[in-house]
Amino acid sequence: MNFSELGLCDELSQAVADLGYTAPTPIQEKSIPYVLMGRDILGSAQTGTGKTASFTLPMIEILASGRAKARLPRSLILAPTRELAAQVADSFEKFSTYHKLSMALLIGGVSFADQNAALSKGVDVLIATPGRLLDHFERGKVLLTDVKVLVIDEADRMLDMGFIPDVERIVGLLPPLRQTLFFSATLSDDIKKLSDKFVSNPKVIEVAPPASTADTVAQHLTWTTPKSKREALRSLLQSEDVKNAVIFCNRKRDISTLVTSLKRHDFSAVALHGDMTQSARLEALQSFKNGEVPLMIASDVAARGLDIAGLSHVFNFDVPSNAEDYVHRIGRTGRAGKSGRAFTIAAGDDDRKYVSAIEKLIGKAIPLTDGDTAPAKTSAARSEKPSGKASKSASGTASKSASGSATKSSSDETAKKAENGRGRGKSRKSSEAHPGELAPPPDCKGNTLHDTGHVPAFLLR
Ligand code: AMP
Repeated sequence: MNFSELGLCDELSQAVADLGYTAPTPIQEKSIPYVLMGRDILGSAQTGTGKTASFTLPMIEILASGRAKARLPRSLILAPTRELAAQVADSFEKFSTYHKLSMALLIGGVSFADQNAALSKGVDVLIATPGRLLDHFERGKVLLTDVKVLVIDEADRMLDMGFIPDVERIVGLLPPLRQTLFFSATLSDDIKKLSDKFVSNPKVIEVAPPASTADTVAQHLTWTTPKSKREALRSLLQSEDVKNAVIFCNRKRDISTLVTSLKRHDFSAVALHGDMTQSARLEALQSFKNGEVPLMIASDVAARGLDIAGLSHVFNFDVPSNAEDYVHRIGRTGRAGKSGRAFTIAAGDDDRKYVSAIEKLIGKAIPLTDGDTAPAKTSAARSEKPSGKASKSASGTASKSASGSATKSSSDETAKKAENGRGRGKSRKSSEAHPGELAPPPDCKGNTLHDTGHVPAFLLR
């Protein structure tokens, strides 16, 4: 099956070919013909399945004829987070290279003025987060009475984030005669009930069983003690061939502590969480996406939908307390047929509960890191050949590696003391609550989880 067989025009087939897509993914194959027919869609697809193109491509085809009038967008895509909305806008731009369609992105944290200017010229596609769209509507800058196609993306996330009342209000401003494409990572009973309010006689499309994990992600679980989690993470960063990784924390406040700790250990890392300003978030994401900084320490704001090309690893510094978040987090890697590796660092009784909830949800046990699945590489081999990426880096970075390693043991001492000192504050409580913790097991390469002192150059500041 190729894209033109789905009913897409030559220009769109060319645009996807330019991007290197050779064949449609299952969600694209199943939904594009129905969207082109004008049907409503109730779609469930895992992140990373090519869902964005499954609605943007046929929308471009539908919108290709016709013209937008000032302040009257012809279609609307609602996304729960700024990052997701920006990503959809990015895809839209790439897919519409050969079409003259206009677009506006309405997200919070950036100036109203540019968004207003775009709206006043008239847009074919409006991509927005619900709050910012309503702000514009209340200021009289946009009217939704001309919207012919509505997309509600990541509806389950909208529900979790409490955005449904805003979405309902927005949908109330739209003409009742329209096409609605409703997408959610999972189709739970709550989501199906919710979708009834928005779609009419939809074509139901499910491409993967709810909450299943992709086979392309090799999953591992490491047990340690609460106070050894940072050390366990560093050990994994050193023993794994990490090209780029998202490291998830459950609490926003722990993110900056972890970034500081990693930097103190000479790793290069940025933070991404919802309390940062929009410009700081975009800047962090940009430096991570373009490979300047290989580690991004993030909250669940980054767990859904974010598309980072060729992400090699995901680390759960904390076991997510919501089992579905696990699926979304590890789904950042192993995307579009590439393989990826995911490690979860667990410590304490609560984590036992969370891990069993996750294993129940995904229907299998997460292999311990001392399992035999990973190809064995000796640490000696790694020391001799620090990293293929290190030699690829600029020479400045490579020499930083050498000095980073050389100075590491003394800075380790200081860092450990500093961490222990901080740990005696609030976070110490968790270790007191679980005094009889397991000793760190060996990792998947058979190395004991301790700081080997060797850090791949690529990960260094
Ligand atoms: P999405 O699930 O929409 O976030 O897409 C995940 C990734 O898959 C993105 O990097 C897309 O560029 C890529 N992708 C989408 N469709 C295809 C396709 N048909 N062939 C190859 N890659 C694709």
